[in-house]
This record gives sequence, C-alpha cells and structure tokens, in this order.
Amino acid sequence: MNTPFDAARLANAAIARLRAYDPGHDLPALRRRFGAQIAELGSNENPLGPSPRALEAIRAAASEVFRYPDPRGAALKAALAGHLRVAADRIALGNGSHELLMLLAQCFADPEHSIVYSQHGFAVFPIAAAATGAQALCVPALPREHPAAPFGHDPVAIAGAVREDTRIVYLANPNNPTGTWFDDAALAALLASVRRDVLVVVDEAYHEYVDAPGLSTALNLADRHPNLIVTRTFSKAHGLAGLRVGYLIAYASVVGVLERLRESFNVNGLALAAAEAALGDREHLQRTYEFNRSERVWLHDRLAERGYACLPSQTNFLLVDLGRDAAALERHLFERGVIVRPMGGYGLPQTLRISVGRRAENERLVRALP
Ligand SMILES: *Cc1c(COP(=O)(O)O)cnc(C)c1O
Repeated sequence: MNTPFDAARLANAAIARLRAYDPGHDLPALRRRFGAQIAELGSNENPLGPSPRALEAIRAAASEVFRYPDPRGAALKAALAGHLRVAADRIALGNGSHELLMLLAQCFADPEHSIVYSQHGFAVFPIAAAATGAQALCVPALPREHPAAPFGHDPVAIAGAVREDTRIVYLANPNNPTGTWFDDAALAALLASVRRDVLVVVDEAYHEYVDAPGLSTALNLADRHPNLIVTRTFSKAHGLAGLRVGYLIAYASVVGVLERLRESFNVNGLALAAAEAALGDREHLQRTYEFNRSERVWLHDRLAERGYACLPSQTNFLLVDLGRDAAALERHLFERGVIVRPMGGYGLPQTLRISVGRRAENERLVRALP
C-alpha cells in the first residue's frame, strides 16, 4: 500500500478541469494572532451582525437540534411568500444561495449545452458550469473606462452571446466583486431578447443595499418571463453568513425540477428559525441599510482623500482600483491586521475588494494605508 494513489486521475471529466476554491487567508489563525486588533473587511459580512430576534430564535431552536429539520422549510417559505408576495411553490431554499446556483446548473445543463456569464462575475458561476461539463461562455466585461459600470456586466453583449445550445445565463446584479449594476430597463431588454428556453438567473445577493435610480429587482419582471430565476441570500444584509441559508424565486415548474435533486435536509433547523426571525425584523434591516449607505460614503471619501479610486457601488463593499498590481498593498494591510480581498482570481489583479465594516474597522484600514 505504499504506491501513491492519484485519485485526481479518476475524477470525472468535468471535475478534472476544476481547481479547488481558494478560501483566502486562514481567518481563525489570524483572529488568534491579532485578537481584537483585526479588521475583517474581506467577506462582505454585515458588521452590525444579525437581528437580535434571529439570535433569540437560534437559542430557542437549539434544544431541537437532535431532530431533523423540516425538509420542506414550510414556515420560512410561507414567511418569504408573504414578504415577496409570491406563491410559496415558487420558492426554493438552499444551504446558502451558492448551493442553489450549483443546483440550477446540475438540474438544467448537460455537456452538450453552454452556460453564459460575464467576465469578473461571481466566482460560483464558472464552477457551476464546470460541474456539469457544459461549455462556459465568458462574455467580456465593460471596459475600465466605462463611466457607470467599470469592469461591470454588459447586458447587451451577454444577450448577444446566447447560442442555440445555451441553457443558462448567470448574472449578478449588483455584481460581486465589482459592486457595479445595470438598471431594470437593461434587464428587461435582455430578457426580451433571449428565448424562453434559456434560464436567466439573476443573483441578487446585495439587493437589500440597493438604492440607485432605475434599479429595483428582477422580480418585477417575473410574471412576464417564466424563464427568470432570482436568487437571494441571508448571508449579507441579514447577517447570517455562518448559518448558510439562501433562496430563489422561480416559476413553479423550475422549483419542481430542483426539488428532485435537492438534498432533503439542506437547510438546517437553526438556519430556518433564524432566517424567519430575521425576515420579520424590518427595523434591523433598515438600520443595516442606512448604516451601510452612510458608512460606504465615509469610507469612499477617506479612500479618495488618500488617492485611492473606488468603483461605483450598490453593495456593502468597495472595489479599489489601484491601476497597478495590488498584491503589495494587500500584503501591507495584512501585516497590520487589516484583511481585504485580493482580486487576482477574478482577473482584476490591480484591485482590492474592501467590505464596509464597523467605523472602528474602517478607521483602522484608513490608518494602515501607506
Ligand atoms: C455573497 C454572495 C452570495 C451569497 O452566497 P451564500 O452562499 O448565500 O452565502 C451569492 N452571490 C453573490 C454574488 C455573492 O457575493
């Protein structure tokens, strides 16, 4: 048994072409090293934390963890249905929206299909495509010089990239890591120009932070386009990233297909309870929204004063465009306990993504800048 066993040679064709996700810095180790002096600005989490009602719901649900959770997630779905004014059979729940994005590709794409997404789009889209063996069609992003959405999605080019064999189009609006967005009219035009048998997946992970004129939600177009799917998450504005819960809204028959492959207990009991409670706390969400809006401006202005240019953002992070390789700056901040996200993996090595943190963390970042 001492001959090396190379399981990579046995991986299926799609997985053989994949690389494991780069999880970034070892945060538990960094927390031990820097203690309270760390500023965690790398993962777009809510610096205010979750709603106190969500924490209370977790405590109440804790004694039930010996039981399996509700496999239907019926209470959370009913709460979402009421909140979004859609029928509950149009909602699917996921172990984070990441799981749902993967599940969509697994359920709807084969190796003979193609999947369209944008350059500098969310990292999960190419992984979801690769997992199915479908051909990935990566559409060039808008140029750096674009006034409204530098490096952002180009909805016209995306629509133009759809082929006969295309099954899925993935979009993130607003997008991570750029923070940029396109408006409702651009999405309506895109939907009007693609065939009904192409599923258009709009990832709205940052929806709760949006306030730009002309930008609302893709959900407003759902009645006209049964091929439209909108994904959301409790990881960002709701502050529940650690519990892993997301959802999507789709035509009921789309949800029906996903249900065939979905793991029966994919969302755990604590997550179901916390998400339902978080959804009911509109005050906490409003506080989160207002804090982010004003703090993002503060951070943007401090960065600008120091000569750092940021892309426009409708999210809880800023993408700083250095115009030169950003690795040295990332290292400099890291050595001072300020954790930001390098973007080489997204094809943007001259940029850093910085989450809007608590004021003390944002100040620590600004002080640490060279
Ligand atoms: C953070 C993020 C998600 C959320 O992922 P979860 O699995 O729900 O935590 C989805 N899409 C984008 C674009 C994101 O930035």
